[in-house]
Amino acid sequence: MPITPTKKIWMDGELVDWEDANIHVLTHSLHYGWAVFEGIRAYETPNGPGVFRLTDHMKRLYRSAKIYCMEPDIPVEGSVQAVKDLIAANEIATCYIRPLVYLGYGEIGLNPLPSKVRMSIACWPWGAYLGEEAFETGVRAMVSSWRRLDNNMIPPQAKACGQYLNSSLAKVEAVKAGYDEAILLNAHGYVSDGTGENVFVVRDGVISTPPAHAGCLGGITRDSIIQVARDLDYEVRETELVRTDLYLADEAFFTGTAAEVVPVREVDDRVVGPAGPITRRLMEAFHNVVRGKDDRYKDWVELVR
Ligand code: PMP
Repeated sequence: MPITPTKKIWMDGELVDWEDANIHVLTHSLHYGWAVFEGIRAYETPNGPGVFRLTDHMKRLYRSAKIYCMEPDIPVEGSVQAVKDLIAANEIATCYIRPLVYLGYGEIGLNPLPSKVRMSIACWPWGAYLGEEAFETGVRAMVSSWRRLDNNMIPPQAKACGQYLNSSLAKVEAVKAGYDEAILLNAHGYVSDGTGENVFVVRDGVISTPPAHAGCLGGITRDSIIQVARDLDYEVRETELVRTDLYLADEAFFTGTAAEVVPVREVDDRVVGPAGPITRRLMEAFHNVVRGKDDRYKDWVELVR
């Protein structure tokens, strides 16, 4: 998806002009993928721009960094403030935010430890990741022939840049085959997640999603939807799912910061959509929660000012 430039990008403590936010071609992370990132969204709320679960996202960034032995120069609170400063400087409200912790220029080779840890944060207006019409029609997904990474290979609980080779291989396969999105199974054949989304199914009124040990990312949208659904008195199970659980679902949907809550219309050409009543209810609830219109979840919306 194309990026629309804003005015400033935060780089190692400074707000630099968008077009000057450049790095050297021998930047370590560019060569071996040793970097971690986040994807966060801010929305217009009745009290000005609000970033959805900003602190939780930054904590996950620092957990990802810890797995990869990188310690950013500033603490989590400093990075939370940096996001707010950046949004204010760019004078936007609704946007996507991309923090990145990476290894800079100066060292090369497979031992990343001597390299300098750098950090950047960019934000820009970004529309619906799977297309605006997907909220209505739902997306067509296929089960990928690529297996999800496992915990003793490249830990799926981190959001590391290099691990997205796995997601992108699955995405490319799906797009080339004429689908919108891929769902990955883990090495044992259980459903893990989408390429950049968690997956949920609904059957006989019960909502199910794979547990973290299935190799899915501990999604912040996933966690939010589980809480919101339980508050609406739905039964939500974190349980292992097999491929046919996707085919036989009454409803299925993806959750993710970029994707938000999107119905799945088909899996491997078996119809499970468009959006059923539970998916619709959760989409609507989420829409209000992230825009600060539901007081029960106001702590999740971190105001810029
Ligand atoms: N799974 C994967 C593989 C992802 O990349 C993402 C996006 N971060 C998600 C799930 C959803 O996570 P979140 O809701 O925190 O964006």
